[in-house]
Amino acid sequence: MDEQRQAAVPGAIAAVLGWPVAHSLSPKLHGFWLREQNLDGSYLGLPVAPDAFEAGVRGLVATGFRGVNVTVPHKLAALQIADAVDAAAQAIGAVNTLVFGDDGRILGRNTDAYGFLNNLTDAGVDVAAGPAMIIGAGGAARAAVHALLSAGCPRLYLTNRTPEKAVGLREGMADDRIHVLPFNTLNSLPDDIVLLGNTTSLGMAGKGTLDVTLTGLPSDAWVHDIVYVPLETPLLRAARRLGLRTVDGLGMLLHQAVPAFEAFFGRQVTVSDALRNHVLGRE
Ligand code: NAP
Repeated sequence: MDEQRQAAVPGAIAAVLGWPVAHSLSPKLHGFWLREQNLDGSYLGLPVAPDAFEAGVRGLVATGFRGVNVTVPHKLAALQIADAVDAAAQAIGAVNTLVFGDDGRILGRNTDAYGFLNNLTDAGVDVAAGPAMIIGAGGAARAAVHALLSAGCPRLYLTNRTPEKAVGLREGMADDRIHVLPFNTLNSLPDDIVLLGNTTSLGMAGKGTLDVTLTGLPSDAWVHDIVYVPLETPLLRAARRLGLRTVDGLGMLLHQAVPAFEAFFGRQVTVSDALRNHVLGRE
């Protein structure tokens, strides 16, 4: 990290833009770091309708905001408004962080892959140790696949309810380590995987449950779910009951915020148990 990014900006303001945004945990977690770092800055949650996104972002640039995180449904619009994008955003095809330069230029970044990978490595997963399997082919899956391939995953099985989307993801990433498997592979998983990751919205409170047979997994395999409401999804509960190691999705959210905080507020921060407890309301 260079000296310039380390320099905290007094009174810096950043925000998360979503529609809706009230459910977002980002103000809570950035607020924790602002207090921890004793910084005179603010982080807001701003509801911005899709048709107001561009005008809204340009207004925030003009007002002196340092940048914004964007959540559903703005990740593609954020890619389009950026003057330049980082390599992860380019590969994933979506932007979750816009950093505003002093000259008004907008840099688009994607920190979801960073968050996905750091959540796993924090838990002790060695993603280069063997094949992984990712379920899903949406935006989160693209971040997960990019993260795993960048970190040396030797073989990546990919499956999705709509197979064309998995094939499209493989073609977009142009990496022959990706192998698309039919969705009914979930009843008979490959027996060589070190990591099974759910990136679909199944398992989230109010959505359906992911139907997967875990019994064929190696006993030392990891099972990960990026859904974090509830924290222990039915998939993770089933894995835990089989004695498999599990990683929940909250850590991805916490870790993806680290580079954004550093870009907005100029201080290096870490994901701690205290942060996790704060976000979970367990203080
Ligand atoms: P998305 O682009 O809309 O993709 C949704 C994925 O879920 C697709 O693969 C879709 O399959 C699959 N899916 C949805 N309903 C299904 C069903 N009934 N049966 C089978 N598959 C189904 O969404 P996303 O942005 O990737 O987000 C996915 C989930 O990840 C969300 O729950 C989101 O909250 C979570 N997420 C968590 C984090 C974190 O920090 N932990 C970060 C990003 C996202 P089809 O292609 O067949 O429709």
